[in-house]
Amino acid sequence: MHIHEYQAKTLFSRNNIKTPKGVLIANTKEASKACSELGGGIWVVKAQVHAGGRGKGGGVILCYDVEAVENACEKLLGSQLITPQTDAKGLPVNQLLIEAGQNIKQELYLGLLVDRQTQKITVLASLEGGMDIEKVASETPDKIIKFGVDPLGTLSLQDCDSIAQQLNLTEMLTEQFNQTLLSLYEIFTTKDASLIEINPLIVTVENTLLALDGKIDFDDNALYRHEDIIELRDTSQEDEKEKEAGEYQLNYISLDGTIGCMVNGAGLAMATMDLIEHHGGSPANFLDVGGGTTAQRVAKAFELIQTEANVGGVLVNIFGGIVRCDLIAEGILQAIEKVGLSLPIVVRLEGTNAQQGLALLSGSKYNIYTEADLTQAAIKIVALSQEQSK
Ligand code: ADP
Ligand code: MG
Repeated sequence: MHIHEYQAKTLFSRNNIKTPKGVLIANTKEASKACSELGGGIWVVKAQVHAGGRGKGGGVILCYDVEAVENACEKLLGSQLITPQTDAKGLPVNQLLIEAGQNIKQELYLGLLVDRQTQKITVLASLEGGMDIEKVASETPDKIIKFGVDPLGTLSLQDCDSIAQQLNLTEMLTEQFNQTLLSLYEIFTTKDASLIEINPLIVTVENTLLALDGKIDFDDNALYRHEDIIELRDTSQEDEKEKEAGEYQLNYISLDGTIGCMVNGAGLAMATMDLIEHHGGSPANFLDVGGGTTAQRVAKAFELIQTEANVGGVLVNIFGGIVRCDLIAEGILQAIEKVGLSLPIVVRLEGTNAQQGLALLSGSKYNIYTEADLTQAAIKIVALSQEQSK
């Protein structure tokens, strides 16, 4: 689960990590009051969306007077913000964080994540933080310091010290850095985060270390034990289809391709997507309808796929173990009754009651191709969807 920058910063503050003063607003009318509350003469208006790269997308605006702040608010509130990290549609801006502008001397990067390769919580730190950190990571990876925390131990003060030393921080900054890193680690482990990032972590002209940005992702599987975190969820930032799918216990992820996939089991779904690619097509989604699925759920899944704008064909691949293939067939027919059938569809059913299922489909009044062999099914749907797009 993702949260907003302002929420991450609240968590940071509670754990003694310094952040700039800021006021959250949802209406331009609140802007001038926010500015006087913050004081000073420079403010930064920051769009609250679940994506980074806001600076590059025009979602972080530096303002030198209240009128400019109001103009920035007017421009951003209610808009869709597109950044290098969103899709072409962008994300809705419903809230803004107005912050006191800081005197930045240096922008560092500090992050914590689970490194799957070493199976350790890993600290990433760099002196070259800021909006081009991705470039630093790909072109000069040696400028990023990596430290894997011993899974049987914890992150110690000595560990922090050695990271600070590698960064060549002064003694005064080292103390603040250590405090920040230890607090980050505390948040990471007690709240079951999967990623925390402060980019940039700035050194101000006054030599204070401040978290100027904040990103925290939480492990969905551990959310049940963090009611305080669940409360931070903002569904306006979630993909409509994925949200709808979640309500039907369907694991659905939108992708860029043209072939809609409906499969049971995550492993089989991935193998099916690979096979589509192998035969020259590209999947429009990942969809696992689950093990003990119902006709109603299948119908919903089918509806979701069919209404995806770029879809040129649908491949259904069900291996009936717990789930019965005749139920799947009924679900598909129910969905077609409801939403119509505008796309070519190839169905491969294997396992429990596969013959009954296939008979139901081929006996229907609709033009449904059935295939017993998965490779043939993939080749067929790629060909049909290419014809469709001509
Ligand atoms: P994103 O990572 O989504 O682009 P950031 O919060 O990191 O958004 O902001 C982008 C850049 O804007 C920062 O690297 C920093 O240079 C500048 N910035 C952000 N907040 C402030 C602030 N309060 N004062 C001064 N500059 C800021
Ligand atoms: Mg940032």
